[in-house]
Amino acid sequence: MRESNCIFCRIIEGEIPSNTVYEDDLFRVILDVNPASKGHALILPKEHYANLYEIDDEVAGAAMKLAKKLAKHMTEKLNCDGFNILQNNGEIAGQTVFHFHIHLIPRYKEGKNADILKWTHETFTPEEMREICDTLRLK
Ligand code: 5GP
Ligand code: ZN
Repeated sequence: MRESNCIFCRIIEGEIPSNTVYEDDLFRVILDVNPASKGHALILPKEHYANLYEIDDEVAGAAMKLAKKLAKHMTEKLNCDGFNILQNNGEIAGQTVFHFHIHLIPRYKEGKNADILKWTHETFTPEEMREICDTLRLK
């Protein structure tokens, strides 16, 4: 399924140009137009899924397998020092394009973006932590 008003669907269709580093039947992998670091890329499923809640299980599995392969390949080619895999769901989580995608972000010890992806911490009492854990326990 394609969505005509979705920028990533239009990139996948070739209506909007992109720097494509990999393509197969299920995915297109492009360089992010506004990269957080050198080589920042996005894995786009060719089918339109808005987010992780909607994506097909098989496609989700294949996407993570591809992320692993690309992380290894990109680390070798770019000689980066580390790697982040990031996937945002919902506006509050930083999602700006509502077509599921996985960010592949090479990390470098040197450079102005050495500090990206840091967050502050919240504190919970041991009792609160137990309640949270009880709520989340998956049976
Ligand atoms: P999100 O914030 O939704 O997790 O990530 C969306 C990403 O898509 C952003 O990092 C943004 O720079 C990138 N992006 C948005 N529009 C385009 C585009 O037209 N082409 C490419 N290559 N990347 C885009
Ligand atoms: Zn789309």
